Amino acid sequence: MRIAVLSDIHSNIVALDAVLRHAADIDSIWHLGDVVGYGPEPDAVVERLSERKATGVRGNHDAAAIGGREIDWFNPEARAAAEWTSDTMSSASRAWLADLPERLTIGDMTLVHGSPRDPLREYITDSEVAAANLEVLQTPHGLHGHTHVPVAWSATPDGVALVQARDTTALELGTSRTLLNPGSVGQPRDGDPRAAYLVLDLEVGRVTWHRVVYDIEPVQAGIRAAGLPVRLAARLAIGA
Ligand code: ZN
Repeated sequence: MRIAVLSDIHSNIVALDAVLRHAADIDSIWHLGDVVGYGPEPDAVVERLSERKATGVRGNHDAAAIGGREIDWFNPEARAAAEWTSDTMSSASRAWLADLPERLTIGDMTLVHGSPRDPLREYITDSEVAAANLEVLQTPHGLHGHTHVPVAWSATPDGVALVQARDTTALELGTSRTLLNPGSVGQPRDGDPRAAYLVLDLEVGRVTWHRVVYDIEPVQAGIRAAGLPVRLAARLAIGA
């Protein structure tokens, strides 16, 4: 069983389709939220995940787009995009997002957007936060997004070990608890503008990260045409 784990797609259908072409040999799709927000095509992304029967959780941008109070925490650009998404999105997309749970357990894996102890808010960006979350994790491993940076945090006898994942980085899932972040499909922030995702091979217990080139220009044009903040278009080109 090979699973493509996608996070932070952010209404970027061009990046999502490039990733799905690249991941042609997978059996199913899991997503870690922030399906919408920032980008110009929320309905197309929801439709694609729905038709591919993707399983996943809600992110803070998904919650904001369907009326959640998460919008109060947003910077002006994120807020403008959330309001635009809310005004633009179809009722079918809204209903699909409203059905997403904040947390999902599948076998040895817990799926959340932000962190196991605070699924919609907390960013796992340092070893202290990672350690606290590895401690409260109810399953051997966890999958999360939210930071838009592909990494793994593993509990070791000497503390938490960090793996900064690049294209084709692979990790064997052993007995130590691990938090895995696939990076962002639709708005990477690690300086590499290519779409990021990971493949989880449950049979052999291996995780492999991937980066996929996609055509950024039409997405930038869509952002400008929608009247979304222009910085949201500019940042896609630099992956920041
Ligand atoms: Zn996000």
